[in-house]
Order: sequence, then structure tokens, then C-alpha cells
Amino acid sequence: MALTNSQDRQLRERARAVIPNGMYGHQSVALLPDVYPQFFAKAEGAHLWDVDGNRYLDFMCGYGPNLFGYCHPRIDAAAAAQQKLGDAMTGPGPAMVAFAEKLVSLVTHADWAMFCKNGTDATTMAMMIARQHTGRRKIVVAKGAYHGAAPWCTPNPAGTVAEDRAHLLTCIYNDSESLDAAVREAGDDLAGIFASPFKHDAFADQSLPERAYAMRARELADRTGALLIVDDVRAGLRLARDCSWSTVSVKPDLSCWGKDIANGYPISALLGAEKARSAAGSIYVTGSFWFAAVAMAAGVATLEEIETSDYLEKTVRLGEKLRLGLSSLSKTHDFSIRQTGPAQMPLILFDEDPDYRVGYGWSAEMVKRGIYVHPWHNMFLCAAMTDADIDAALNAADDSFKALRANFSTLAPHPGLAAMLKSRRR
Ligand code: PMP
Repeated sequence: MALTNSQDRQLRERARAVIPNGMYGHQSVALLPDVYPQFFAKAEGAHLWDVDGNRYLDFMCGYGPNLFGYCHPRIDAAAAAQQKLGDAMTGPGPAMVAFAEKLVSLVTHADWAMFCKNGTDATTMAMMIARQHTGRRKIVVAKGAYHGAAPWCTPNPAGTVAEDRAHLLTCIYNDSESLDAAVREAGDDLAGIFASPFKHDAFADQSLPERAYAMRARELADRTGALLIVDDVRAGLRLARDCSWSTVSVKPDLSCWGKDIANGYPISALLGAEKARSAAGSIYVTGSFWFAAVAMAAGVATLEEIETSDYLEKTVRLGEKLRLGLSSLSKTHDFSIRQTGPAQMPLILFDEDPDYRVGYGWSAEMVKRGIYVHPWHNMFLCAAMTDADIDAALNAADDSFKALRANFSTLAPHPGLAAMLKSRRR
């Protein structure tokens, strides 16, 4: 099965001349199988079309922002109405207050909200607020956890200096003893403890948070006066209509949000508890586009969908259907796969696949059949997906396992991947 790709190849060639490496960041396809398109023409509901007109059921959802479906009519209408009135004006529109009110009423631990543009803005602000609140320096993060692309947290050290991370200490996710040890090492200089809502590191099996670990993080923060921060940028609203750690009954002091809170319109947020309000109000953070009104209006409409629709139950149900189906198909074709994390944010890795060549082979077969999956990053379901979409994905999976078996002896490791994995800092 061959996809046409001439438009994509032409664009890549033009891009190489005017964009470093032709593309950069997490949406570069340099580390994906060759069949993955780099450029897309349009998206609607649960589907994407590449620039050559090939259509895909999209299990990446823009790496998270698409929660209710691309071009959601009600959310887009709210954004379009605001667009007619004004967007990046000299000050925010009233939707800023409405959006903050809605987030504060939805998220149990939150008493206030601040808005920014990217998840990294929110995590960096959380770090600054923890330092301002405590007057201390050390920040504990879990080894391998992603908190963004700023010098203090980027997984790729190029362009950074050791001092950018001088006050970071690491622990192992879900390992309370290692958390204790990191906190001990920080001594009387601990400003904050970062926690991913669940372990969703790239290239590794996902795991849900253990309640004992989350409670220990809360206790340690309380005992030391440090702030507990949940980075809900990726998982926010996908596990709960609240902070994701509400699922283990632990309230952080700060939580970071982004990606899906406005269903793809560019906005992120930092939410906080009363005790951190004064520190939050004293740091200087801003940006030319942070207060633009269109994304705020889209955010208000998105939260209305959160409150009134069954999106969460639906994505869980469809995710479970996909997981069960893939488990059975993999067995039929004699492959051993591991499906980890919440069903609505699935990650699929193959056993005995240290250089990921088998996962790459299967993912490439899926993409050739119009199902956009990822070989090493967690995926996302969106509420625009239907039972028929999951059936289509399972049909394609059946054929893809078959093709993988037939091509098994020809699979080879991806040339750039090994070097990249080696260069990753944590
Ligand atoms: N934290 C987490 C958990 C994320 O998944 C991401 C984005 N993948 C970020 C922070 C950074 O968000 P952004 O790319 O919007 O800066």
C-alpha cells in the first residue's frame, strides 16, 4: 500500500532551505518512520488530511490539544464571534475573567488562575512562584518526566549550561523513598516538588500514580513548606473534570495546564491555591499574545463542553474498546505488546523491541492504512471519535500485524533514533 507524498516531499525540500533541519521540536517527523507526512492540509473532527490528500484517523490529537474534535462547531463559533470583536488588543477582554472563574470553579484545589501561551510558560511560572513563595531554590522533579522546553527542563541539553539546572534534584516516579531522599538532599532549601499526573515519559511504559506516593509528596511539601505542583499540561481534563491528582485524592498547591483547555486555541494556564496567591502576584511574567481574547473565548466554550458532555466517559469507553481489540489481535498474530497508561491516553510498546524497530514497523503499517499512531509517545483519543472509527483502527491493526509478520526479517532500527536516545539527558 503506497501513499502519495509528492507535495510533502516538495515542502520538505523547500523547508530545508529556510527552516533549520526543515523542522524542529516534537512535531518534526525526523525520528518517525519515513512514511509519516510532515505537513498537513486540514483537520476535522477526529481526522487529519496531509498535503497530498491522504486522510488519517488521528490518535495524536495534535499531541494533546484536540479534545472535542478539530473544528468543533460550538467552540469555533465562540472563537469566531470574539475574532470579529478583537483578539490581541491593548488589554484582555471579559472572557479572561469568565475563563478564570470557570477554571477555579472546576478545579478543586484552585483559588486563582493566570494565563499564558504554552505549557512551558505555566511550568516555568510554577517554578518561579515556588521559589518566590519559599525564598528557596531547590526543585524536585521525577527522572525522565517532561515539563517543557525551557533551559531548566529541556531533555536536550544543546544550548543550555549546567547552571540552568543547578538547583534541580531528581527522584523516581512512584518511589516514595527516592522522593524522601531528594527532599532530604534539598535540606532547608526546598522550594517545590513537581509531579506528573501519571508517569507519561516518552519511550517507556506509562504508570498511574500510586496514592501512597502522591500522599507522600503532599506530606513532604506540607512538612517543609515547599509547594506541590502537578504538571497537568498533557493529561489535564483527560482523566478528570478536575486536576488529575483528584483521582488519588491529593490536592496540589499549583497545577499547570495547556494543550486542550481551549480545544486547540493557543492558551495555557497556571492554577493555584490561596497560599500561593501573593507569590503569584509578585513575579513578573507576561507576553505579547498572552491576553488575546479569541483563545479565552474558545476556552470558556471548551469548559462548557467539559461540564455538559460525556466526553470523558466516551473517550475512556472507546479507549478500552481499542485496548481490548489490540490485545486480542496482537495475540492472534503472535506479537506481545504492552498497552499502558489510561485507556484514553494509550501507549503501545512491543516486547523484545529494544531499538523500537518492531513498533516502528507496525506504526508505519498503520499510517499506510490511514491510522495515525505513534511508536513511542503516548497517544490521545478525542470525543469526536466513534465506535466506527475504533472498528476501522482495529481492522487496520489486523492487517498491520499481518504485514509486520510478513516483513519481520526486513525490519531495521531507525537511523537517527539510537543517537537521539543516547543524547537525552535524563
Ligand atoms: N508539560 C507536559 C507534561 C507536557 O506534555 C508538555 C508538552 N508536551 C509541556 C509541559 C510543555 O508544553 P508546551 O509544549 O505547550 O510548552
